[in-house]
Amino acid sequence: MEEIPQLVQQVMADQYGSLPRQGPGSPASTRKAFSLLGPLPERPLVLDIGCGVGAQTMELVKLTSGHIIALDIFDWALDRVAEKVVGAGLADRVHTTKQSMDAMDFREQTFDLIWSEGALYIMGFGNALKTCRALLKPGGYLAASELCWFSDDPPDEAMAFFEAGYPDMKTMADSARLISGSGLEILGHFHLPDRDWWDDYYTPMSKVLPALRVKYADSPDAIAMFDDTDAEMAIHKKYSSSYGYEFFVCRRPAA
Ligand code: SAH
Repeated sequence: MEEIPQLVQQVMADQYGSLPRQGPGSPASTRKAFSLLGPLPERPLVLDIGCGVGAQTMELVKLTSGHIIALDIFDWALDRVAEKVVGAGLADRVHTTKQSMDAMDFREQTFDLIWSEGALYIMGFGNALKTCRALLKPGGYLAASELCWFSDDPPDEAMAFFEAGYPDMKTMADSARLISGSGLEILGHFHLPDRDWWDDYYTPMSKVLPALRVKYADSPDAIAMFDDTDAEMAIHKKYSSSYGYEFFVCRRPAA
């Protein structure tokens, strides 16, 4: 993965670091996806890829009695996870690791469960599926939310917007085919509801942006990032019925 410029890292830390989560989702959706898994070992080993500040990590630690490795590329995210975990007295059950998801340092067939909310698109969904399948023990599970088109003929304006940010975005049916083609079986899937986009993500984001526009007034690159976020929210308001996150719950067959 390319080196992320210092300014972009700083702006991202300011823009996303103060939010309850760094992408759409909710504790209710995390729990719903978890309920679609089959039986897990008593103390599963879980990998949370692109954990952000740990919104779903803190749910997973309540839902299992296993061990969770929370992986992200940014210190501001991992430091926050570590704080929360220590605050909750769970430091023995959650460990953070700073790694890029496209060069993860784990042995094959390590995990009982891989979780990833709003993050696998970063390495490309197809690539992520192959990587995750290899890291799962046979019979292990992958639960991941992925941005998808909900129609075969999405509106031009929405397509043009995502052409820049996520040109590889697929329809839900194509994403499902990609999963099956990667040697994983789908146990269930559902759309994230619209409130998952707003309550803990776009609404708090709208509140932090005005102050950041002042703080970074002299930086055209930062202002362009905020403009892009505003454009993304406007597209979502207009076209939320045409695309969204699909939460896929899958299993690597046992043999
Ligand atoms: N799962 C969290 C965060 C989703 S946003 C939530 O739903 O709230 C995507 C996350 O991926 C961010 O925390 C970002 O820091 C992280 N990320 C970005 N590039 C990455 C990379 N190459 N490897 C690992 N994590 C990365």
